[in-house]
Amino acid sequence: MPICYGTDMSSEMTRKSLPKHRASVDQDQFLSILSREDALARFEAALFPRAAPSEPRPLADALGCALAADVVAPIDVPPFDRSNVDGFAVRAADLAAAGEASPVRVLLNDEVIACGTAPTRPVLSGTATPIATGGPVPRGADAIVMVEHTQPAGPRAIEIRRAATPGQFVSYAGSDIARGEALLRAGTAIGSREIGMLAACGIAQVEVVRRPRVAVLSTGDELVQPGQPLRPAAIYDTNGAIVAAAVNENGGEASFLGAVADDEERLEAAMRRALATSDMLVVSGGTSKGAGDLSHRIIARLGQPGIIAHGVALKPGKPLCLAVCDGKPVIILPGFPTSAMFTFHDMIVPVLRRMAGLPPRSDAKVTATVPVRIGSELGRTEFVMVSLVEAADGLIAYPSGKGSGAITSFAQADGFLKVDALADQMPAGSEAEVTLFTPHVRVPDLVIVGSHCTGLDLVTAPLARAGLIVRSIAVGSLGGLAAAKRGECDLAPIHLFDEKSETYNTPYLGDGLELVAGWRRMQGIVFRKGDTRFEGLNAEGAVRAALADPACIMVNRNQGAGTRILIDRLLGEARPDGYSNQPRSHNAVAAAVAQHRADWGMTIAPVAHAAGLGFIPLAEEHYDFALVTARKQRPAVQAFLDALASEQSRAALTRAGFRPAN
Ligand code: AMP
Ligand code: MG
Repeated sequence: MPICYGTDMSSEMTRKSLPKHRASVDQDQFLSILSREDALARFEAALFPRAAPSEPRPLADALGCALAADVVAPIDVPPFDRSNVDGFAVRAADLAAAGEASPVRVLLNDEVIACGTAPTRPVLSGTATPIATGGPVPRGADAIVMVEHTQPAGPRAIEIRRAATPGQFVSYAGSDIARGEALLRAGTAIGSREIGMLAACGIAQVEVVRRPRVAVLSTGDELVQPGQPLRPAAIYDTNGAIVAAAVNENGGEASFLGAVADDEERLEAAMRRALATSDMLVVSGGTSKGAGDLSHRIIARLGQPGIIAHGVALKPGKPLCLAVCDGKPVIILPGFPTSAMFTFHDMIVPVLRRMAGLPPRSDAKVTATVPVRIGSELGRTEFVMVSLVEAADGLIAYPSGKGSGAITSFAQADGFLKVDALADQMPAGSEAEVTLFTPHVRVPDLVIVGSHCTGLDLVTAPLARAGLIVRSIAVGSLGGLAAAKRGECDLAPIHLFDEKSETYNTPYLGDGLELVAGWRRMQGIVFRKGDTRFEGLNAEGAVRAALADPACIMVNRNQGAGTRILIDRLLGEARPDGYSNQPRSHNAVAAAVAQHRADWGMTIAPVAHAAGLGFIPLAEEHYDFALVTARKQRPAVQAFLDALASEQSRAALTRAGFRPAN
């Protein structure tokens, strides 16, 4: 059952305004919604303090673990006084009178101290011993003279023309790490540097906090594991993979146990098995309390004290359920992958890291301006994924508006911002703190904001191969045009039809924008191959045939789409079944027809062909670019224009079913 966040009757705000008896009815829906801070505090209070079991681990397997105890250095590093340079071990006092005009001659002792060679002869006054970088300083010597500052003076002697201070170019025993010194403290996360320090002291095994064993389960009749064929109405299990990876990233040891059907008995058995062999259980799905959503009921039988919070004022993520069963945390994440991710990182990672003995995560943050208003529900802490773009006066954070069901928004997003529970919006122009998904923001070289087309990927491919970072943000033609007018992108791909002038795109440009011709996309009627109602007809004939059959269902397009204007012209006054189904993309139209949810619609030829559908051409749509003139000379923009004009791009576009405009 899809969750309709934001319109249900269970938010704090709504409940407060309801009479008492209504409130108790609502409590059945979502016991009581806690703020994220309250929920996290109660969850932590139920789990901590607790003993953290430890185990010895070989250094090679200790990466990412927390040290369970302080490590005291067992030896000095370096273990002996060591030369820092290639040269000669000397007595500094011998060289007191040395200068450019008064070289001092010393005799060479009969040995060479290479790395790993223990000296056997002392350096007596008036002598020197050749020594390599890293060689142990011999008895009697107290300084090293660099080989560059000496000259051979016969077979067994050298001349030195500058004085030396005692200790010169010597690293003393224990100067790096002193025996008995606290090398690393308990609770330190072991990274490559820590491993290096331990290895330098000869430590092969360390006592670490045992990584919490985290069982990961997905629930839902609709889930299929990646690698398996997708049956009708099924989707791939995304959460299993994401959650297991996120557990491992944060100090846990995940074991993914697969997806369980929405069946109370089987789910309970799987959860009991999982808990028996792990320290923590993370289930995803089954939280929205619709029919078939059972896991929260099962938790109540798994152990004490049971559910700590069911329903948290987070968006996305409200149906989150936090429980403790006989000391073990049991978590039910919302089903939608982005909701699952945000709640996991915000609410579960702190607990997991604490159990793993690791310090809290410190995420990299930047400040950016939000160019558009972000609406938000009062009373819930809201996470919004954003893409970062560099503008004249700092970073701009574009919200990616795909909703909690979308997973691809992660690919475009650089990080996320939080809208406070007490705010009902973030106004356009606000400064916001953006938490980065990875510590290094790579600001793109070329920013394309507007309508997306698979042809665009063909044109930008050579730029990506040349090492340029291209960011394309799909916000539709009008959104792209607005961004271009504000100077927030280099190019806005648009396909806007002007009914008055019956032309595409040019009438929509304003000051500071110029048109770069892109390519043409043939629009037409799409239907399933072999549907005899449409085979062999032209577009007008096909629509007449559709209208003549009352069982025929269409799929429309959204108001404002150029394609919609064509559809309305063909239909005239007719409003057939399916007219009100108005998806926003060419791909959604093709999917509806391919899956028999509709019998015909209008899309572009490459999309129809990719979906294996029949296609009746009608009229070309112009997919062009509004170029921000002020950014035209930027190297990445020039590279794009070159790529667009290149023979390779034109050939690739033609192969994919587009027609280059020039
Ligand atoms: P639920 O919480 O079970 O009601 O699921 C809410 C939505 O998330 C539904 O559209 C589910 O199909 C989807 N969903 C649940 N679990 C997963 C999963 N493991 N991977 C991808 N989507 C899921
Ligand atoms: Mg489900």
